[in-house]
Amino acid sequence: MNDKLTALIDKLNDEKRLTPGEWVCLFTEFTDEEREYAAKIARELSIKKYGKKIYVRGIVEFSNYCKNDCIYCGIRRSNRNAQRYRLTDDEICECCDEGYDLGYRTFVLQSGEDPAYTAERIAEIVRRIKARHPDCAVTLSLGEKEREEYLIMKQAGADRYLLRHETADKEHYSKLHPPEMSFEHRMNCLKTLKELGFQTGAGLMVGSPYQTAECLAKDLEFLGSFKPHMIGIGPFLPQKDTPFGDKPKGSYHLTLFLLSLCRIMLPNVLLPATTALGTIDPRGREQGILAGANVIMPNISPVAVRKKYMLYDNKICTEDSSDDCRFCLQARARSVGYDIEVTRGDYFD
Ligand code: SAH
Repeated sequence: MNDKLTALIDKLNDEKRLTPGEWVCLFTEFTDEEREYAAKIARELSIKKYGKKIYVRGIVEFSNYCKNDCIYCGIRRSNRNAQRYRLTDDEICECCDEGYDLGYRTFVLQSGEDPAYTAERIAEIVRRIKARHPDCAVTLSLGEKEREEYLIMKQAGADRYLLRHETADKEHYSKLHPPEMSFEHRMNCLKTLKELGFQTGAGLMVGSPYQTAECLAKDLEFLGSFKPHMIGIGPFLPQKDTPFGDKPKGSYHLTLFLLSLCRIMLPNVLLPATTALGTIDPRGREQGILAGANVIMPNISPVAVRKKYMLYDNKICTEDSSDDCRFCLQARARSVGYDIEVTRGDYFD
């Protein structure tokens, strides 16, 4: 065990922040031993806060049309090979009904940035879901919008919003996105979402092209100061029809280590073991739980469209039905001594 690194992990646990140099040292020098040391602390913090319970959120991927052209993403607008689809409002509501019957009490509506779904239309969908299932939370993940649009959705009853910042380094941001997209705009959206009272999620891909340890240090600094209610972290995985199709995937172990460090820095944060983590390793989500994650997001999209929401290659659960995912996840949680929890699972301090 490297005493310098374990001392840094202890310092993070005590003081909830590190200097950029200290972060870089952790990211560049850690081995399995320090990763497991951090995982143990993170797991204990997660159990103290949430017990051995994993919150579940049913996710409906309702459209893969996107006006953006993020270089890494399989549903970017320039990808001519993507088969585009949109669910109707009725279909979206039916997915939630099915999710409700499976015990889910949070629904996440995610899509590309699709102008066909205006703020008013999303608001109407949110109101319908809330009218049918008043005991449920609705989370949106629709990308960057204007303040007035977020407000319309909030006033319709949306509870949470996921918008990964992707990278906290402006120069790195510009290598992952086309010139018409702006780092400042994305960061401002996050600020706005929090101000409007959404439980707000930020996050990043680990090992995205051109990411350095210094970039990750900025990510952790940003997360520590912004204090999101949720943090989505998964490995970057190449999608063959994007310009990054030949880039190497992110590191599985670094992803697990980052999950643990986020849990240690923000002990109350809602931290999913993501689908990308389950894709990079068959036991990735279980290992994510053991590294301090406390949320899992089963897919409740219609099976007919699942393969089309291909953000990256080999995405898991695209052949399974919603009930398959329900029982598979329960078994996975139980295999590591946890169980899934049937409540809204709100953030609390
Ligand atoms: N349009 C929404 C949802 C984007 S998809 C938005 O802009 O927020 C959700 C997340 O998938 C993205 O935020 C990104 O972090 C992740 N993602 C996209 N492409 C990926 C890839 N190739 N590998 C891993 N994760 C990816």
